[in-house]
Amino acid sequence: MKLRTKLWLLLVVSTAMSMVLFGYSSVWIGKAVNKGYALFQLNPLAQSIVDSIEDGPEFGEDTLKRILDNAHEEHPAIRWLWLNDQGQSIYDTAGLNPTLSFKDLAVLMQQTPQRFLTDDDVHILTPATRDGQSYFLLLSIPASEMKQGEVYFMVRTYKSLLTLVVPIILSFSLPFLLAIWLFTSINKRIRKLNHALNQLNIQSDSPVVQLVDSSKDELGQLTQHYNSMAHRIRSQFAEIQQFESKRKLLLSNLSHDLRTPLTTMLGCAEMIRTGNYKDQQELQGRAKIILQRCRYMDKLLDQMLDISRQDADDLTIRLAEHNLSEIVRKIAVEYIMILDGDQVHLDVEAPDEDIHLLVDASLIERALRNILDNAIRYGKDGRYLGIQLTADEHSVNIIVQDRGKGIPAEHHAYIFDRFYRVDSGRKGEGLGIGLAIVKDIVEAHQGSVEMSSIPNVETVFRISLPRLNLPQ
Ligand code: ADP
Repeated sequence: MKLRTKLWLLLVVSTAMSMVLFGYSSVWIGKAVNKGYALFQLNPLAQSIVDSIEDGPEFGEDTLKRILDNAHEEHPAIRWLWLNDQGQSIYDTAGLNPTLSFKDLAVLMQQTPQRFLTDDDVHILTPATRDGQSYFLLLSIPASEMKQGEVYFMVRTYKSLLTLVVPIILSFSLPFLLAIWLFTSINKRIRKLNHALNQLNIQSDSPVVQLVDSSKDELGQLTQHYNSMAHRIRSQFAEIQQFESKRKLLLSNLSHDLRTPLTTMLGCAEMIRTGNYKDQQELQGRAKIILQRCRYMDKLLDQMLDISRQDADDLTIRLAEHNLSEIVRKIAVEYIMILDGDQVHLDVEAPDEDIHLLVDASLIERALRNILDNAIRYGKDGRYLGIQLTADEHSVNIIVQDRGKGIPAEHHAYIFDRFYRVDSGRKGEGLGIGLAIVKDIVEAHQGSVEMSSIPNVETVFRISLPRLNLPQ
């Protein structure tokens, strides 16, 4: 059943129930709280006494006394006075036996029934006839013995009922009509939200439907959440797509990067096998090429391993106390050998004293090698490679500098992202994973890595490791 139908049903049923409840509860509560004689009871009561006198088998003073005394016994608050047509009292249950003129009676009857709302006595005069003679029964009751309040509704024509029924229905329906109005507007907003959620297509290029709901209530907040959620989903999906396309590019690069050295190696190996080389020097040359390509492939395989490790979020570090000066010096010596004959000026600056820190030495070496390899691979043209180790009381910094083609400013924000490469089209240069690994390693040591680059002037990578974990 639709919410709207449910609400209409609820309206009809609850209006009917409210009216019944109102009627019953006002009668019950009236009975319990509003005690006393009702005005409409007095006339029939007086008439019943008159009837019993008129219709009685005999009519004498004794009979009259007995009937009025019985009535008084039954209704002690009521005074019964039997008068003849001259206004003279025949029997008075109060024992006063007055004689009442027409004027006296008119005054007594004046302003009935309003009297019972004041403190005056209420009087009912009922004519009687017995044995051809006219009499009157005067019923008097103090207003305090009457009900505290009474509602009368007199109907001459059914049309007059409308004056009661229509206002009651209107007043009972008003809250429900207001509730329906509120519900309909809420329902409309929910349907809009529902529709927008249905239409939300994260893959399409069409802009995300923005819902406008300026109210501050829960639905307004939900709409705001929907808007930001739709945007987040879209941008995250775009990121995933970008990541996916980078992954695909990586795979195609990888197969190219593996196949190229393999072809060269096969050629060299075939030449060595067939003995088709000029002299010992050419043989050495070919063997060197095979060795280089093997190292390159080994590195590629290492990087692939790194990617799967990163995917599994599996970077375990084993901290131990190490002398960073020694690590930097050792690596610097390695690179002096690598750069041998490459006409690159290597500048190493490390303090003579030992700098001890709790680090995973192999990981830190790997991070440093990644940065140095990049500086050689991409910055060799600058013919300068600087390695610097500095320390102050808070941190230890390892700085690598080159003066090559550098990294244009628009790439700076993404350079540490996985699979990000400045020139993603170029094959055979890397997988775009090296700097992401550097970042992971440094962050695992609670440090940070920064990069600044002015193309062809200076490209600097700075690893900062906090000294917090220095042994005391
Ligand atoms: P890759 O495997 O491609 O080298 P990295 O994550 O190590 O991946 O580096 C990402 C990109 O950053 C590289 O593709 C390269 O374009 C750029 N880059 C890194 N270091 C340098 C540098 N010293 N000079 C110029 N470009 C660099």
